Amino acid sequence: MSKKMKAAILDGFHQDFHWEDDVEIADPRANEIQVKIVSCGLCHTERAEQVNLWGLGLPFPIVLGHEGAGKVVQVGPGVTKFKVGDKVAMSTPWCGTCAACSSGQQWACEHVDDLEIRGVDYYGTPGPLSRNGKPVYTFFNQSALAEYSTIHINNCTKLPDDFDLRIAGPLGCGFRTGAGSIYNVVKPKLNDWVIITGTGAVGFGALWTAKAMGAKVVMVDILQNRLDIAMELGADAALNSKGMTADEMGEALNDITGGGAQGMAECTGQGICYKGGMKALKMGGRCASVAFINELNFEYFTTECQDCKNVQFIRMGNVEGDTIIPIMAELYKRGMFPFDKLIKFYHFTELEQAMEDAHTGVTIKPVLLWDMD
Ligand SMILES: [Zn+2]
Ligand SMILES: [Zn+2]
Repeated sequence: MSKKMKAAILDGFHQDFHWEDDVEIADPRANEIQVKIVSCGLCHTERAEQVNLWGLGLPFPIVLGHEGAGKVVQVGPGVTKFKVGDKVAMSTPWCGTCAACSSGQQWACEHVDDLEIRGVDYYGTPGPLSRNGKPVYTFFNQSALAEYSTIHINNCTKLPDDFDLRIAGPLGCGFRTGAGSIYNVVKPKLNDWVIITGTGAVGFGALWTAKAMGAKVVMVDILQNRLDIAMELGADAALNSKGMTADEMGEALNDITGGGAQGMAECTGQGICYKGGMKALKMGGRCASVAFINELNFEYFTTECQDCKNVQFIRMGNVEGDTIIPIMAELYKRGMFPFDKLIKFYHFTELEQAMEDAHTGVTIKPVLLWDMD
């Protein structure tokens, strides 16, 4: 059995998305559910994949979308984790059986490339989507730029019944990454200082998690309006590093923190932020390197950046979705994770505009909705 639905198809790199209303989606099999999608967040990934920025390669045609949330409308045979009507946030896939998954490190799943970007599903087949009898490949095993997703239960986390699905999409990606980096890697203690470079969704997720753990946070960016928002939404200090050298950044951060920070989350991918922050990280401190560092070279590993300091490179926050998504949802309810303040809504068919606004920084977190009312 299958049904037809609307979905945004990408036929190749450097092409435009086109919406079609005759994409077939199969019913869920064992360990799968079908979700009626309410919202889908966008980060830089969709644009990066559209222009092949990371050179990862994709099968085509494909339906992107990896920050979906919605309601369960069907469950496959034997599924007990979810029931029809449950609200779920969709996140990254993990096979559940490889060495990494078996040791509790789902974020390091050995099969993640197949499941995320090769369009292969958990059964080793092309997945639930097709059009005119030919496969349409999935992204993150999720493909949330559509009306429905037939998805493995590993990708999904149940949300509280009263949680607003319109804002829930982005919990599975950027916010999760920032939150997990702090919760599972930086692990600040009460009153520790944490340096967070970058004020996108990842940086804000890190900010609110560090604050919830009792730390003090200095946010670093070159965009003053973003730093103003960070100060309004919980940061203890902000540093506008525009025009600064790494040495100047390090000095300024040492001043702000009264002699250095115990933790750091590098969320920009800029080498200068990495080096500047590391200069203000105390010996024994922990840095979560969250973003791809485009220009990493040994110039950054000066003695003062190495001295008894721990750097961990991060994937999806080095955390399980089922651990961190409920924590973020609960902190949101308590007013301690106000991520809705960063969201701007667009209709799904305004996909290109939403991606453009994310790219130019007009919108921190675009979220697509089917129902704008
Ligand atoms: Zn994302
Ligand atoms: Zn695995």
